[in-house]
Amino acid sequence: MSPVTETDEHKALRSAVAALGKRYGRAYLTKAVAEGGHPDELWAEAGKLGYLGVNLPEEYGGGGGGIAELSIVLEELGAAGCPLLMLVVSPAICGTVIARFGTEEQKRAWLPGLSDGSRTMAFGITEPDAGSNSHRITTTARRDGTDWVLSGRKVFISGVDIADATLIVGRTEDARTGSLKPCLFIVPRDAEGFGRRQIDMELSSAEKQFELTLDEVRLPADALVGDEDAGLLQLFAGLNPERVMTAAFAIGMGRYALSRAVEYARERTVWKAPIGAHQAIAHPLAQAHIELELARLMMQKAAYLYDAGDDIGAGEAANMAKYAAGEACVRAVDQAVHTLGGNGLTREFGLASLITAARVSRIAPVSREMILNYVSHQTLGLPKSY
Ligand SMILES: Cc1cc2nc3c(=O)[nH]c(=O)nc-3n(C[C@H](O)[C@H](O)[C@H](O)COP(=O)(O)OP(=O)(O)OC[C@H]3O[C@@H](n4cnc5c(N)ncnc54)[C@H](O)[C@@H]3O)c2cc1C
Repeated sequence: MSPVTETDEHKALRSAVAALGKRYGRAYLTKAVAEGGHPDELWAEAGKLGYLGVNLPEEYGGGGGGIAELSIVLEELGAAGCPLLMLVVSPAICGTVIARFGTEEQKRAWLPGLSDGSRTMAFGITEPDAGSNSHRITTTARRDGTDWVLSGRKVFISGVDIADATLIVGRTEDARTGSLKPCLFIVPRDAEGFGRRQIDMELSSAEKQFELTLDEVRLPADALVGDEDAGLLQLFAGLNPERVMTAAFAIGMGRYALSRAVEYARERTVWKAPIGAHQAIAHPLAQAHIELELARLMMQKAAYLYDAGDDIGAGEAANMAKYAAGEACVRAVDQAVHTLGGNGLTREFGLASLITAARVSRIAPVSREMILNYVSHQTLGLPKSY
């Protein structure tokens, strides 16, 4: 795929996923959230159709595509009102890291399940005392014979309750200070000493966030993914797809909100013409559409570079795409809610809950300010204040 135009295959994937999303739709997800459940049926069907593992290698049950394809899947499900947040972590981060750096046994053990959706994996890097400064993470891995023993805390980790395991970012004990020397461990959900507490979020989402405690969690040698000395490279191999997928999540949500607002503005009439005829309503919606399209263009560039093996080039583009998509999504949702007037805040129309949901893409996995910092320092060569 060139970053500017999509191939016929991509267009076909886009419309097939859109059709699946339409069959489930917003009402399906709203019901699952209200009942405290998860979109299991959609997840299973998307897995069976090969969408969840579209980026993973064919020899391990995946579709043999890349992040370009997986981002199409997430964007289209989001545009239909039923995004699957776990796509960001399970196949995109964890699947990618295992496919690129895992041992043969790890690939065989995990990739077929991550591809068909029968297994999922969460991802945990954020810590309460480190936050945006991941160089400060203190979750520590100590060797004991051939085993690893992990201790530390994590916060805001999504989907730990439904994931079979969490890919935990720690650091080796001899690298407790100084710059980050991360290493990645597969921690099974029921591992002894692996505790979780659900965080009470003001978010209407099927996927919950958790605070985790790792209290001397003993893991076999093969829980370590990849090389303990090449951790940073491996970590970034997973974080670029995460940024691209967060952009896809945001663009999908923005498109969903915008389409609801456009439908409403075409019909709702309180003077002579529908409210959509007033430019004060029409122009901000047109602007939201343009901003979402622009964000998608940068997302496609980032996915293209990443899939072509340019990890460094993809880093800048993935950050910019995440920034642009997060901002476009927040503005699209805000304008959509406003377009519906009072109905924008009713449960029946279901748009108000997107206000908090849209903010997530501005904060996670890396905040707007940290991307502006990245561009200030890496791209523009400006000095650092921290
Ligand atoms: C819904 C949700 C799901 C999440 N899921 C996951 C997950 O699955 N796995 C995971 O590991 N993490 C997850 N996170 C965590 C997320 O990645 C962090 O919240 C994010 O990285 C910000 O960290 P923080 O919350 O500690 O904010 P802080 O780092 O405390 O930042 C607070 C504010 O200060 C600003 N700030 C900080 N440093 C600077 C600076 N140098 N210059 C300018 N401004 C600065 C930030 O931009 C932000 O606005 C999730 C978060 C949310 C909300």
